[in-house]
Amino acid sequence: MQLTVEPITLHLRTPFRIAHGTSTTRQNVLVHLADSVGEGAPVPYYGYSQAEAVAYLQSLDPHALLGDDPLALEESLDRLPPGPAPARAAIDIALHDHWARQLGQPLYRLWGLNPLHAPLSCFTLSITRDEDELRRRVQAAEGFPILKLKLGTGDLGADEAIVRLVRQETDAQLGIDANSAWSVSEAASIIPRLADYRLLFIEQPIPRDDIEDWHRLRRRLPHDLPPLLADESVRLPADILALAGAADGINIKLTKAGGLREARRMIALARTLDMQVMLGCMIESSVGITAAAHLAPLADFADLDSTLHLASDPYVGVKVEGGRLYLSQASGLGVVRRSLATSAT
Ligand SMILES: [Mg+2]
Repeated sequence: MQLTVEPITLHLRTPFRIAHGTSTTRQNVLVHLADSVGEGAPVPYYGYSQAEAVAYLQSLDPHALLGDDPLALEESLDRLPPGPAPARAAIDIALHDHWARQLGQPLYRLWGLNPLHAPLSCFTLSITRDEDELRRRVQAAEGFPILKLKLGTGDLGADEAIVRLVRQETDAQLGIDANSAWSVSEAASIIPRLADYRLLFIEQPIPRDDIEDWHRLRRRLPHDLPPLLADESVRLPADILALAGAADGINIKLTKAGGLREARRMIALARTLDMQVMLGCMIESSVGITAAAHLAPLADFADLDSTLHLASDPYVGVKVEGGRLYLSQASGLGVVRRSLATSAT
């Protein structure tokens, strides 16, 4: 059993601006376990690096991980040493792929999920204050029923202007993501105004670390608002408990959670607390997105569009067309190396 680690650089089609900064490339990591594969996205904003993810994965002994029973997935996952969440996500995904391939079924089927019941994925529009450019982006996103608008320009008036313009340009459903940009007071003043534009959700309006701020914000807001979803503020199950009663839901990403098993636990906890679930992604290839798509039938919202923003994708996996997620019926994740997929057709 071979385990190989492959650092990859993903290039974006156009610079992707959000409140945390602008990206043109992302440094991710793939791990291959025999024919199986997983991906982690070590986003620097969370304090992770590609180098530490690579080092963690290279330290793993695949024979020790799989043990005597390669179908005892839970035991293999229990054997993973502590380490950075994106690296753990990569090997967790590869182990799930391997398990499902051994059993000859798509992963979603082993979980008893029907991919036809996955929510439609959002398509994200990154920040621009150029109105003509924003109109062009809205036109280019035609056919996507849900647009997610990145806000956090540094100017509340400009943030509202983005939502107003997009609302004028399209009948698509709109959600917004401020990526931690607003103070509690700013959020309390702008959110009720933005709600007038018929929003589907409002994501991470305030900075991530002070969970009490979420409760302060909630006390200052009216009740009849679109759901407030926490993203950056949620990494561990304990974060979900602390947010209950303040946020209406959480955005779960495999690379934040440390993989599919932890993501499923977080979904179960959110449901227990009567909270909604968005399944999101970082800038990831089809490996990471497809793994997340297998869980999408358990979510209320899907935000799995990142491959549509890539100049090239090393894998072929879930198809995202008009927001709909199409998973293959192949065993495991159902992802294929692009060079192999091309030569086979
Ligand atoms: Mg977000």
